Amino acid sequence: MSLLSLQNLTVRFGGLVAVNDFSMEVEQGTIHALIGPNGAGKSTVFNCISRFTTPTEGRITCDGVDTLALPEHAIAGAGIARTFQNLELLYRMTVLETVLVGITSRTPGYMPFLPGMKRARIEARAVAEADEIIEQMGLMPWRGTLAGELDFGRQKMLDVARALSLRPKLLLLDEPAAGLRNREIAFIDELLVRMSREMGITIVLVEHVMQLVMSVADRITVLNFGQKIAEGTPADIRTNPQVIEAYLGSDAHA
Ligand code: ADP
Ligand code: MG
Repeated sequence: MSLLSLQNLTVRFGGLVAVNDFSMEVEQGTIHALIGPNGAGKSTVFNCISRFTTPTEGRITCDGVDTLALPEHAIAGAGIARTFQNLELLYRMTVLETVLVGITSRTPGYMPFLPGMKRARIEARAVAEADEIIEQMGLMPWRGTLAGELDFGRQKMLDVARALSLRPKLLLLDEPAAGLRNREIAFIDELLVRMSREMGITIVLVEHVMQLVMSVADRITVLNFGQKIAEGTPADIRTNPQVIEAYLGSDAHA
């Protein structure tokens, strides 16, 4: 059963067609990679799903909900969370505060001015939940550190933690491994598999690090100039002549 369905999406920016009649089905519980050269339209597809961009044409449903009918602020409530290719963290917040914002935003009845006892109980539960996510991301030693003072790899992990704090059904990851070292990429590899298999989160992964994509993806869709040029298992994609020509051919991605 597909959780996310993109039907005939087209996005025009003035004369530029960034996404061209693009359709994709993402099966519930899978890791689905979306790959292709720079400028292919991958981030624009994410922006449509998360309501940052409204497509010129097309339909998007997530778990049966027509997401294009929702305002941007309702997207998290519909179970969709994302990370950003260019991190958009609030650098003056600590790791704990960053994760708590997501948790309290979906805590029914939470308000900063609740009476003392009740508020303390809800907050203790929120902190326990935040700590669990911080631990999973390997960030416990930096729990009280400002986001702006973390190194780049840990900022990327915090962005994933922030997305996870929304307890999404669908998680959109935009180049989580970009700029990371091998050891950090190995951590992300394990983390993605854990989020998918143990937490049941459906993941759409935009990524250029092919070693990661080929290792974790159940299915891969390839975009080029806004159009789908191939779709299949990692084995299908690795040997697809059109994909090799448009994207995988260069040594950088081999
Ligand atoms: P990718 O993530 O695959 O590298 P993008 O989705 O970022 O590609 O971009 C696809 C195309 O759309 C590029 O040519 C890019 O310059 C253009 N584009 C993206 N966002 C905008 C925007 N807000 N306004 C105008 N052009 C845009
Ligand atoms: Mg991009």
